Amino acid sequence: MSIRLSGTPASPGVSIGPAFLLNVEELRVKKKTLRTAEEVEIELERFTNAITKTRGELELISDRLSDIIEGKQLMEVHILLLNDPSMIADVQNRIENEHVCAEYAVSTVLNNVLERFRAMKDPYLRNRAADIRDVGRRVLANLLGTEEEVLSSLNSPVILVSKDLDPSQTAGLSRRQLLGIATDLGGSTSHTAILARSMGIPAVVALKDVAESAVPGQCVIIDGIHGNVILDPDDDELRYYSELKKRYNAAEAEIALNADTPAATADGKSIELSANIEFSQEADQVNRFGGYGIGLFRTEFIRLLSPEVEDNEEMHYRAYRHVVETMNPEPVIIRTLDLGGDKFLDSIPTVEKNPFLGWRGIRICLDRPEKFKKQLSALLRAARHGNAKIMLPMITGYDQVVQVRGMLDNIAAQLDRDGIPRGDIPPLGIMIETPAAVLGIDLLLPHTDFVSIGSNDLTQYTLAVDRGSPYVSNLFDSLHPAVVRQIEIVARKCREVGQWVGICGQMASNPLAIPLLLGFGLNELSVPLTLIPDVKEMISVIRMSEVESLAESTLKMKSSEEIRKCVLDYVKSRYPEILLDEIDRENNDRGN
Ligand code: PEP
Ligand code: MG
Repeated sequence: MSIRLSGTPASPGVSIGPAFLLNVEELRVKKKTLRTAEEVEIELERFTNAITKTRGELELISDRLSDIIEGKQLMEVHILLLNDPSMIADVQNRIENEHVCAEYAVSTVLNNVLERFRAMKDPYLRNRAADIRDVGRRVLANLLGTEEEVLSSLNSPVILVSKDLDPSQTAGLSRRQLLGIATDLGGSTSHTAILARSMGIPAVVALKDVAESAVPGQCVIIDGIHGNVILDPDDDELRYYSELKKRYNAAEAEIALNADTPAATADGKSIELSANIEFSQEADQVNRFGGYGIGLFRTEFIRLLSPEVEDNEEMHYRAYRHVVETMNPEPVIIRTLDLGGDKFLDSIPTVEKNPFLGWRGIRICLDRPEKFKKQLSALLRAARHGNAKIMLPMITGYDQVVQVRGMLDNIAAQLDRDGIPRGDIPPLGIMIETPAAVLGIDLLLPHTDFVSIGSNDLTQYTLAVDRGSPYVSNLFDSLHPAVVRQIEIVARKCREVGQWVGICGQMASNPLAIPLLLGFGLNELSVPLTLIPDVKEMISVIRMSEVESLAESTLKMKSSEEIRKCVLDYVKSRYPEILLDEIDRENNDRGN
């Protein structure tokens, strides 16, 4: 009988294939005592060879990842860790003086180092433990020979099932070997999820016990669209998912055909439909999906993959240059680091009871100007390669914008003094994601060049509903009158002063929200890459003359139910059959 598991969709697509179980063993190996000087020599040599082999592997992966800037940077960090002279000396000492075999010496040293790192107070350093474990496992694999070797020599592709995957394990796997990924742990912002998305491999994470339940070689279905995994599927399930896979792939192919059609309503109003990206390399796909520019580049993902980026202007620069150059002349809105809140909690060196109300976004940037300057300087330098705009997250007052403008002026002057080429200071915009920004919008607009509504946070802060809590997810509702009214206020105030306004939260791709967002007159919808074609289709059946009055009518409504019903009636009369599935889905999960 088949087993059906549900987890978090991490990378879209459907795949069907045999399970390959990759067990993540603890770094413990058998102790073998050496008796002769000759045996010591042999073990020292085995260790040196393992280091050389590991270095070669990492360099190879780094080369293979030359088009994935963040992944390449991660490999460079791993090479640095591998070359750490004190760790190497410690292992050699143990072989020579304690007369233990190379793998035992390596595992003892690694376990000691890992313990020290895990106990560190500074979360940045604590996070390095994962990288050290990753490098250590590679060295051990080269001494012992493990499943990873078997995996890399497989000649037919598999579905990888594991408790968890380290970033370099994921990055090191080739697309040809891998049909899909299913893991017990991880979230949609975990390293593995990010890499799987960028590699285009369907993945589901947070399955809790897939590694326990799967049997090597058994058939597995990965549904990375809805977050389902089926072990040992029956004939009906196989038929259903083969069909879904075909439809998904056909839709992808269709995308390529329609990509050149610009987004416009049925009565001819052009709408900027752009992409949200988390990873610089995704820029390469925006035009293929039919998007116009990038409405949100969540740069904190670079920081997620490479913590050292904050002190390394060059790493920032390479990523931004790649994105703006790729999209040129289309616009790219690069959001400065939005760390904190639910994102990368462990990277924030503080124990906050309410992280969403705490040290987050612009607050962290302004409190650490030296690090922030590196990002701004890189942005100014990258700006000469295309059409870059800078956007600040979590803004609550105009003084924050003024402060960043001052920093940009100073950094520009310094770059000029140093003879470093740069672009013009890019337009500076803010995210509208707090009620403070909405109610104080007239105080903010004189200082901004554009704004973009972050409906995920605006909903959370307006309704006092933690966007990540499963206990209150039924209350998270972007169609609540209090949220809808705020969107109208922002759109109207921007129109009054002629300022461009977009939206980049999840609401922008919600089929029931799109008529309202267009009706209120937003200039842009920025949505996840893969949703661009669907959203374009929804836009194409809407008439501005109808949605303007529809949107206005919702301002008098008392509840989200009323608003939802009103839009649903309109949408049902307008959207083609195929999109009704989407609407049902929205009704189920309320688009959060
Ligand atoms: C938002 O809050 O709507 C938004 C787009 O930003 P993020 O989801 O990254 O917080
Ligand atoms: Mg936000």
